[in-house]
Amino acid sequence: MMLCVVTGGAGFIGSHLVDALVARGDRVVVIDSLVNGEHRNIAGHIDAGRVTLVKADLLLDGWQDALTGVERVYHLAADPDVRQGSLTPDSQIHNNILATYRVLEAMRTHGVPAVVFTSTSTVYGDATIIPTPESYNPLEPVSVYGACKLACEALISAYCHGFGMKGWVYRFANIIGERSNHGVITDFIKKLQDRPGELEILGDGRQTKSYLEVKACIRAMLFAVENSDDVLNIFNIGSEDWVDVTTIADIIVREMGLSHVQYRFTGGERGWVGDVPRMQLAVEKLKALGWQPDVGSLESVEVAVRAMLGKAVS
Ligand code: NAD
Repeated sequence: MMLCVVTGGAGFIGSHLVDALVARGDRVVVIDSLVNGEHRNIAGHIDAGRVTLVKADLLLDGWQDALTGVERVYHLAADPDVRQGSLTPDSQIHNNILATYRVLEAMRTHGVPAVVFTSTSTVYGDATIIPTPESYNPLEPVSVYGACKLACEALISAYCHGFGMKGWVYRFANIIGERSNHGVITDFIKKLQDRPGELEILGDGRQTKSYLEVKACIRAMLFAVENSDDVLNIFNIGSEDWVDVTTIADIIVREMGLSHVQYRFTGGERGWVGDVPRMQLAVEKLKALGWQPDVGSLESVEVAVRAMLGKAVS
């Protein structure tokens, strides 16, 4: 049993992580401003006395003492909107870089020895090697979001090497599933609920990326942190295949029971400024520890779509 903090623990991925930590008996403190997270995502655990919620903005003071006696911080709080980040970078600079710096400083002053951080495939930019391994370079992000996450990785490296902490940095593919409130699947479902006869698809619909269902992502996160022990441990987390955007649209249309939906492509190989049209991560490093990916991109999309439409998931 461990006392840990999950920043962003009321959000999409964070609340699934909290489910898993509670299930294995850890004591969990969630720090979340609820700017994008939902109280209801963790309400059951709070009511059961298994989770404490500190409702606080990491950019303000008042939450730091929640780190007293904590053995591990899972730092997930962030502005995750890649598309918006390239239009208005300010929120990403603050909620990603500055918030991460403040979490690391609070860890340093409270003697917390371990940080787990959720980074992203977008740190690789338009990688020329696909599947892309952790050793790929140069790291040349094409989005503000990717740039901010790379800056966070660098800060974590410096704090781990300089102040006796250990760090786990996970570069995620697209993580999808129940409670998600952003990304391509959310976007398509909302558009089709508004106008069931047509669907605007950003770009040419051929953007091809790797997707991983959120529960599989959480299993990989916890496996890696329990099975590696360097000062800084960097792992890609994703599935071993990819799927294109038009196929995702087809799955959503089918699962919503729609027919004759007219697709309208906005054109261009990228959906937006900073979009990476082809992404698949090499996961050999994690597999070498003994982890086995148990779900591919297509199945991840199907499970996520059904869950997000409120259908029973087998
Ligand atoms: P999310 O928006 O559901 O979760 C982020 C949480 O952080 C929210 O609950 C929000 O309220 C909270 N938060 C944001 N700014 C805060 C602040 N200043 N102070 C306190 N709380 C704050 O997003 P998610 O998809 O669950 O992402 C979780 C993490 O995983 C993020 O770090 C994101 O960048 C990373 N990530 C996600 C994906 C993906 O596909 N979803 C891919 C790569 C990386």
